[in-house]
Formats: sequence, structure tokens, C-alpha cells
Amino acid sequence: YEAKRTGEGLRLYEAHLDPNDVNRLALVAELRTALTTEDIQVHVQPQAHTDDGRVRSVEALVRWNHPTRGRISPDEFIPVAERSGLIGALTTLVLDASLAAVAQWRRSGQDLSIAVNLSSRSLLDPGLVDEVAQLLQYHDVPPAALTLEVTEGSVMADPTRAISLLRELRALGVRLSVDDFGTGYSSLSYLQRLPIDEVKIDKSFVTDMLHRPGDTSIVRAITDLGRNLGLNVVAEGVEDQKTWDALAELGVHVVQGWHLARPMSVQALLPWLRERRTQAKDAPTPTPPAP
Ligand code: C2E
Ligand code: MG
Ligand code: MG
Ligand code: MG
Repeated sequence: YEAKRTGEGLRLYEAHLDPNDVNRLALVAELRTALTTEDIQVHVQPQAHTDDGRVRSVEALVRWNHPTRGRISPDEFIPVAERSGLIGALTTLVLDASLAAVAQWRRSGQDLSIAVNLSSRSLLDPGLVDEVAQLLQYHDVPPAALTLEVTEGSVMADPTRAISLLRELRALGVRLSVDDFGTGYSSLSYLQRLPIDEVKIDKSFVTDMLHRPGDTSIVRAITDLGRNLGLNVVAEGVEDQKTWDALAELGVHVVQGWHLARPMSVQALLPWLRERRTQAKDAPTPTPPAP
């Protein structure tokens, strides 16, 4: 029991758990178990270059297939993993599976790279740099074939510490990307001070940009800024060809989204790539622009 002062004086309240807390505690226990099973898997979503349409990279997206609750979204369980100290194990699992996949694709002749999301907690983990270095070595993957995605928010939580960690990661030869760009509160000039290679424009500005002039302006501003800083500019959430074309026109280098492909299992990627190439060969050659 805990004593609590109220307007009517001192009263006793029974200490109780919020039903949400009970649910969360159960989720933590189940997540801990799931990390040792096949219920947690890494899926991959292809990214295409706007200049030649080629796929050279994918993003790793973690999936939790819960035996009774069904699919749980990473937006739901990543925060749980972060608060319960399980994020380190989850990050290790995703990095390991991602690098194993890239190694396998490269052995079969496909020169692909992979992007892995880092949580804000991971940016404060002093063991991360060694771990990344060891996993790259173990899987025999060149560091440049790995991109690590961080959000503005996770960097801003402790900028000094995060930036020094990012510098160490980049010194390994790994590429760094700022994910969900435009949704944070950091000033644009801050981008210049981050040791990064890429900006990923948040899908909330991309998906409906053709119907929202304000979004188009934001996408244009971020693209111009990114290009002027010499960064690779990626747009996520591209759901149709018209948006793809508009992004290419604005100067976005790489697009990712349902129009190209939904996230798929690691094993599905090479067959998907093969199928796509066959279709491209069969497709009629685009009409050349009028002189
Ligand atoms: P994110 O890194 O920004 O990933 C993009 C999200 O957009 C993914 O959601 C992806 O499935 C979804 N998406 C892709 N194309 C489209 C599209 O055309 N339209 C729409 N509406 N959505 C699209 P997902 O897989 O549910 O992941 C959500 C977030 O969870 C990720 O956002 C990332 O922040 C986090 N996350 C996912 N996997 C990991 C992981 O392994 N580690 C960490 N720390 N976070 C992860
Ligand atoms: Mg991402
Ligand atoms: Mg994103
Ligand atoms: Mg996101």
C-alpha cells in the first residue's frame, strides 16, 4: 500500500498495476523467449535507383510472428525491447541475420547492400562498434555493404555521445543514414555536422505528396539540401509510379516502397530480382524523348 495525499487528506491506495503494464510485462517475457526462436525474422524491402531502375540494396525490417497474437508491428515491440533491456539482443539478431543474407547473396553473384535500423538505445551502447566489426568479419562482408539507419531523435537524445559513436562506426567503413528525416526537431544545419552518407525522407511526406503541395515542397527542400551536402537521398513510402517519377524529377537518388515491393523474406529476394529482370527484358523499350 502506498500513502497518497489528496484534497480530502491522507488516504491509502492499493498499489496496483495498470492493465497496460500487465500486458507490457507479458510482452517482455514473450519477447525474451521469441528472441531464441524462429518467431522473430528479418524481412527485406528492395530499394531502386531512379537513374537506371536497378536494385542494389535492401532495408532489413524485423518481424515478430507471435504464436497467439499474430503479427506484432515493430513500432509496437521495438519500444518494449528498448525499455526492457532486450534491444541489444534484438539488434544483434537483426545485424547477424542481415549480414548472413548479404553474404549469401554476394556468394551467388549479387552485389547487394543492406540497411539496418538502429534504435536510440543502441546509439548509447559502447559495445556496438566492436560488435559490428566482428559480425562484418565473421560474415566476410565488406563494411561498405552495410548501412546503419539512425533517426534524428535518437541522435538528439545525447548528441555528443551519439556523434562520437557514429564517427567510430563510420571509421569501420560502414555507411550511415538518417531515417525518417523531416520528422525530428533538429535544425537543418545540424545535418552538416553529422558524419553521415545518406538522408531518408520520411514516408509521411512522400506517400501523398502529389495531392499535398506542402509535402512536395518539403521533399524538394530536403532533396536539395541533401544533394548540396553530397548525400545520397532516399525516399521511403513510394506507393505508385507517378510519385516515383516525381521523386526522380526532384533529384531523389533512391526510392523504396510498396510500388517496387513490399518487405519479403530473405529467401524470396533473389527469385524476386530474377523475375523483375525478366520482366524488364520483356518490357517494350521506353519511347525516346522528342528531339
Ligand atoms: P522505418 O525504418 O522508417 O521503415 C519503414 C517502414 O515503412 C516499414 O514499416 C515499412 O514496412 C514501411 N513501408 C515500406 N514501404 C511502404 C509504403 O510504400 N507505404 C507505407 N505506408 N509503408 C511502407 P515496419 O516494417 O512496420 O517498421 C516500422 C519501423 O520499425 C521502422 O520504420 C523502424 O523504425 C522500426 N524497425 C523495423 N525493423 C527494425 C529493426 O530491426 N531494428 C530497429 N531498431 N527498428 C526497426
Ligand atoms: Mg529505416
Ligand atoms: Mg523511415
Ligand atoms: Mg519509421
